Amino acid sequence: MRRDRRVKLVATIGPASESEEMLEKLFDAGVDVFRINMSHASHDLASELYARIRRISDRRKHPIGILGDLQGPKFRLGAFEGEKVMLPIGSTFTFDRTDSIGSDARVFLPHPQIFEAVEPGHTLLLDDGKLRMRVTEASADKIVADVEVGGPLASRKGISLPDTLLPVGPLTDKDRVDLSFLLELGVDWIALSFVQRGQDVLDAREIVGDKAAIMVKVEKPQAIDDLNAIIAAADGFMVARGDLGVEMPIEKVPGLQKKITRKARAAGKPVVVATQMLESMISSPVPTRAEVSDVATAVFEGADAVMLSAESAVGKYPVEAIQMMDRIAIEVENDKGYEAILYAWHTEPQPTAADAIAAAAHAIADTVHLSAIVCYTATGSTALRVARERPGLPVIGLTPVAETAHRLAVVWGLHSVILEKDPDSVTKMVQQACRIAYEKGFVKAGEGILITGGVPLGQSGTTNLIRIAFVDENGEAQASG
Ligand code: PEP
Repeated sequence: MRRDRRVKLVATIGPASESEEMLEKLFDAGVDVFRINMSHASHDLASELYARIRRISDRRKHPIGILGDLQGPKFRLGAFEGEKVMLPIGSTFTFDRTDSIGSDARVFLPHPQIFEAVEPGHTLLLDDGKLRMRVTEASADKIVADVEVGGPLASRKGISLPDTLLPVGPLTDKDRVDLSFLLELGVDWIALSFVQRGQDVLDAREIVGDKAAIMVKVEKPQAIDDLNAIIAAADGFMVARGDLGVEMPIEKVPGLQKKITRKARAAGKPVVVATQMLESMISSPVPTRAEVSDVATAVFEGADAVMLSAESAVGKYPVEAIQMMDRIAIEVENDKGYEAILYAWHTEPQPTAADAIAAAAHAIADTVHLSAIVCYTATGSTALRVARERPGLPVIGLTPVAETAHRLAVVWGLHSVILEKDPDSVTKMVQQACRIAYEKGFVKAGEGILITGGVPLGQSGTTNLIRIAFVDENGEAQASG
């Protein structure tokens, strides 16, 4: 089985999509990666979902990625008398450390780290940005602020601080427990919320090691300030437009999406565009024109993947939403303007052997009009560098390492196949690549493929070989290949 598009589809699992039958329908409709959201899933449920997805993957002989998304820190207010107060614009409001019921003048804020870091002039956002305040006084036990955008404020609503670099890492105690559980389970990607600095990723890497790849959810203004270090430290990125649009002026989000996508592409690391992509399909079988255009924009930008959140987790039309994304992606990728727009963001190869091989593979395949590029890859790094080229032909990753194939499921244009073992000669390598490309429908008799691999065979980090091979009428490598 093969997909007819190069951009990948990620679906968040929730009550609307938890059953094995529904997960399989979503896979059939086009899902490449399933996201388990640890803000909502218990460990028992996550184990069940993991087992269901792996069973589908085995049954359908197709690698499916699993992304375990950690909740990250959430900062909440204490309670109000009567559960809700009204804060008028122009009033003054105080946050303090006295654990008693709040009023329209003050409330308990149970997070000492906020008192440590906030400064006069900083912005405070309450209830997903519905209310906004400006800090006028800040000390170790009291923050006084002017209400700039007022309204009702209920008990235990969230507070965010877009200007404040908080002395908090991205992992809470709950996240640490969830993380070791997810690593034990064997998920392919860990999504990290609340990353503020590149160092946060390096700290998480100490725990994750090489058991999973790390996807940073870019959702905080502080992360934008340290984006280069974050891009260098992480394995992949999610443009988490939900939280990003709360902490940044919402009109900045499209430009940031472009910036993050362009930098991730230049680094050769996958980037997922997420949140509200087909939001109206939570309750409607058809999306709005604007939503279709939003998905199309991400595809034109060359994002590796587009993601559904509530649409597939709790919506009434999860399968229709994935089918819709699939159709939009296919239409965009066949649009006459697509390649020109995609290549406008192409960046030159870096001076490494892997990039030289990836660029050469792309150029040769185009010049000779080959039908596919086949990469033998152990860690996935060669396949990633070839995908970074965004070649106009399918890229097949062949690997005996199942974890690699699962991780690559999120990467633009890559179709991975898990091998029983690496071939033990270059001749067998060529024969196997031709047969798989033919059987999977990527090449027809008489057409050619380009193969990248490494000698000595089976050793990671040795990609140093390019071969061109043509397929005969039986789907085997032609003798002269
Ligand atoms: C987001 O904020 O856009 C996002 C994907 O994260 P979450 O669903 O955890 O809020």
